Amino acid sequence: MSKSILDSKQSREIQELAEISNHTKRATVLEMEDILYKPFPVLDHGFIRVIDYMGDDAAVVQAARVSYGKGTKKVNEDRGLINYLMRHRHSTPFEMCEVKLHIKLPMFVARQWVRHRTANINEYSARYSILDREFYIPAPQHLASQSNTNHQGREGVIEGDYANKILQILKDDASNAYDHYEYLLNESGEDSRPGLARELARMNLPVNFYTQWYWKIDLHNFMHFLSLRADPHAQYEIKAYADILLEEVLKRWMPITYEAFKNYKVDGVHLSSKAMEVIKKMTKGEKVEMEQSGLGKREWQELIDLLQ
Ligand SMILES: Cc1cc2nc3c(=O)[nH]c(=O)nc-3n(C[C@H](O)[C@H](O)[C@H](O)COP(=O)(O)OP(=O)(O)OC[C@H]3O[C@@H](n4cnc5c(N)ncnc54)[C@H](O)[C@@H]3O)c2cc1C
Repeated sequence: MSKSILDSKQSREIQELAEISNHTKRATVLEMEDILYKPFPVLDHGFIRVIDYMGDDAAVVQAARVSYGKGTKKVNEDRGLINYLMRHRHSTPFEMCEVKLHIKLPMFVARQWVRHRTANINEYSARYSILDREFYIPAPQHLASQSNTNHQGREGVIEGDYANKILQILKDDASNAYDHYEYLLNESGEDSRPGLARELARMNLPVNFYTQWYWKIDLHNFMHFLSLRADPHAQYEIKAYADILLEEVLKRWMPITYEAFKNYKVDGVHLSSKAMEVIKKMTKGEKVEMEQSGLGKREWQELIDLLQ
C-alpha cells in the first residue's frame, strides 16, 4: 500500500483518523480495522479506501437464523450455512452487511460504475470545487488495439513508435484541456476577466480526468457488482478496481462469504438445460457435436472452453 497518491495534508488527516480508537459493542473485523482509511492505489492516480463497514460473516449467519443472540454455531456449521445461502441465491442475509468506500476513479470508469443502481453515492462536486490536473493515461502494456472478434473489447498490445505517439496525443490533449479549464476559471483574476462558473468550465475536460466519491453498498449488491466487474469480460480499468475490492477488501472483511462467493459465483458457472444435456451425454461417453447439441455457436464454444 502506498501513500504517494495522496498529498501530505491528506496523508496527515488519514493518520490522525487512524489513531483514534472507539470502544464499541458492535462486531468488528481486525483485518478490516487494519486497512481502515488507508488507500489502495489503482491505475495511475486512483485509489480505494475503506471508510466504514457494518457486520461480518457472523452477522450473515445471525440474520439467516433470525437469532436473538450471536446466532453462530461451530465454524463448520456457519460455513455450511453461508455456502447454502450462496448456492441457493438466498440473498437477504447478505443484505444485512454494508461497506462504505472512498474511491477515486477516471470519469469514464465512473460512468460504468454508476450503472450499478443499488448503491448510495456522494460525488465530489466540480460545480463547487476545482478538479485537479489528474488524468488517466494507460500503462504501455494496456495500450491495445480494437478486438476484431469482440466489438466490446481490445486485443494485442500496441508497441513501438506508434504506441508512443498515441500516449503523447492522450497526454497533450488532456493537458491542453486542463490549461483551457484553468484559463476559463481564471482563479488568479488575470486581465480582470470574469472567471467562468466552475459548473460550466468543467465541461471542457475529457472523461479520463479523475473524479471521486463515497460509495456505500450492501454485501449482496457488492458481490453482484464484483461478479460483473471482476469478470474477464469487464473493461480492464474498472476490473482493476473490482479486483482490489474482491481480493483486498471482501477477502479481509468476510473470509467465509468470500470463499463461498469465489466458489459459487466467481469461479463457478451457470449452465443452460441444453448445456447440461451435452455434459450428461459426454459423461456417458457419447460423442456430441455442436449441430446436434441445440446450442448456438457462441454458447457451444463457451461450454467447450469451460470443460478444458
Ligand atoms: C461487461 C459488461 C458490458 C456492458 N455493456 C453495456 C452496454 O453496452 N450498454 C449499456 O447500457 N450497459 C452495459 N453494461 C451495464 C449493464 O447492462 C448493467 O446496467 C450494469 O452491469 C448494472 O447491472 P445491474 O442492473 O444488474 O446492477 P444494479 O443496478 O446494481 O442492480 C442489481 C440488481 O437489482 C435489480 N434492479 C435494480 N434496479 C432495478 C430496476 N429499476 N428494476 C428492476 N430490477 C432492478 C436487478 O435484479 C439487478 O440485477 C455492461 C455491463 C458489463 C458488466
